[in-house]
Amino acid sequence: MNPTEPKRSTTIKYIDPQVPQTELPAYAGNRYEATVPDTLDLQAQMASLAINGLTGPTDPEADYEIYWQVAFNTNPPVMWHAESDCVQAKHMEALPLLRLASGSRQNLHVEKRWTEVLRQMQGPDGLLYFPKIGRPWCVFGTYGQEPPGDHYFSPWQEGRLLAAMTIYYLLTGEDAWKDAGRKVVDGLNALAIHEDNKAHFPANFIGVGGKFKSGDGAAGIHNPASWISWMIQGLANYGKHAEYQPALDLAGELSRWVIEDANHFDATGCFLPEYSGAPRAHFHGHTMNLLSVLEYGTAAEDAEAIQFADRGFKYAMSQGDCLLGFFGEWLNMSTPQTLEMCTLADMIALAIKLSLAGTGDYWDMVDRWTRNLFVEGQLTSAHRAHWLASKTATTPVAPMQLPPFHNSDQAIEKNIGGFGYSLAPNDFVSRYPYGAHNPALGIIHCCTANGARTIYYLWENILAFTEGCLQINLLLNRASKWADVDSHIPYTGQVDVTVKQPLQLSMRIPEWVTPEQATCTVNAQPRSLGWKGRYAQIGDVEKGDVVILCFPITETAETIDVEKRTYRVLLRGNTCVAIDPPGVDCPLFERDFYRSTTTRWHKVTRFVADKVLDW
Ligand SMILES: [Zn+2]
Repeated sequence: MNPTEPKRSTTIKYIDPQVPQTELPAYAGNRYEATVPDTLDLQAQMASLAINGLTGPTDPEADYEIYWQVAFNTNPPVMWHAESDCVQAKHMEALPLLRLASGSRQNLHVEKRWTEVLRQMQGPDGLLYFPKIGRPWCVFGTYGQEPPGDHYFSPWQEGRLLAAMTIYYLLTGEDAWKDAGRKVVDGLNALAIHEDNKAHFPANFIGVGGKFKSGDGAAGIHNPASWISWMIQGLANYGKHAEYQPALDLAGELSRWVIEDANHFDATGCFLPEYSGAPRAHFHGHTMNLLSVLEYGTAAEDAEAIQFADRGFKYAMSQGDCLLGFFGEWLNMSTPQTLEMCTLADMIALAIKLSLAGTGDYWDMVDRWTRNLFVEGQLTSAHRAHWLASKTATTPVAPMQLPPFHNSDQAIEKNIGGFGYSLAPNDFVSRYPYGAHNPALGIIHCCTANGARTIYYLWENILAFTEGCLQINLLLNRASKWADVDSHIPYTGQVDVTVKQPLQLSMRIPEWVTPEQATCTVNAQPRSLGWKGRYAQIGDVEKGDVVILCFPITETAETIDVEKRTYRVLLRGNTCVAIDPPGVDCPLFERDFYRSTTTRWHKVTRFVADKVLDW
């Protein structure tokens, strides 16, 4: 059987019953073995695992629909379908991006069916509808009332699905994807309520023909700006890449509604409560707005939108721990909050994109957060989750009742590469009081998808090549067609760059290093450095040159307060190598091996894609 030939459900009734002919991108590139420092590797480690986390917890009997949630504090661990399975829209955007970064071809049959389903969801009005028939887990209530008919759409998801269409258009060159994307934009434009150069949508769940039940909303959980703003990013990307002005215009109208009318942020960037009468403000529900408006602002060169994102990001930084990257799920709460990885994924994405937009220089934040809670927030091995499951009977965490539509077949293994949603600073799962309404501890896949997409943002922006100059922004391992970067951090302060074509090289030094402390050799010959801000100017290098940048790295101990608790952390450079008190159930930062001053090496297969996307 063709490895990409998927199983197709006969019970799920899409608005378009015709299965389209879709071809997956070739995902072609150059693969080669390399012995590299065993340090943080976004390609060989994080991106490859995330492909498993995106496509593994899926149901072959239901067109590989994701199981939205998995719990490890049950015995055996279990995953299940729920209303929020529709966050699969985010998986569909992240998956092709991570194939470019990782070269992984795992579960291509899942992606093949997802691309077909994406087109079968498109109604005559251009909008993308989720089917009700064949998906009995799609109940309504939490986020709005059930609209009439057999199909429904939600602004939450349209933007991410449009983003996936844009990516497939760019990677395959197929006009069918471009046309489908244009129809989505036109459908959204027809349904939006346009007023005073601003736009919003009437409800969160809408049926065919624009029908919805009044009183709809996110049931007091989220400000409508949260679900409306998700569209903005998809529209901005489609407008930019497919050169379709109506998409950028609608993104601008929605952005102005979020900035001026939604009552979600004050003029200083402060996050306002979701609804009057309750003080709580959802962190990710705000940062996703910032990211979306920023994407529009950079695509349309709208300075006001970019400044809005920068103000909100500065406020967000003031509300969390910027050393490890801990930002609680809810603000203004009396109980300690856990880290939802969506939040950290948004914060890293904002820090990268605001640095690129030039409103600030946040690369040091990106480095810290990535090396610490971002990488630790991804489930990378099964043993920690099995350990939690095996002691469930004696843990104070109450075993949950098994939900309907659940599956316990290798639930841990299929979720390796997923991102956690309830982390403590020292533990992959937290025993904090939060979660009384939801005793399941493990992964919810909004976090997997947002984490996965941020892996791409990081990987893409480790380096940048423009007009003959290669600039290295993050001292992380990275293969590319211009040069391969091998980072010894945190074992030693050394980064090796093997050059693949003549270019000018520039490398950012870490925040704990002064320019005088940095030294450089090219092919073992000393090279004097010029400076542009934090970037060492190595100058002209040739194909085959080996550049070695060296600087000191030391250990420091810090005390941090996170969510009303105090921790001692041991840092080597920016990398946390121990935390006290340690976690109990799935402890984090067990990285004593990084304290060696001798680099540990390992073999990896590197991949350099023929085509990557500016995303
Ligand atoms: Zn999440």
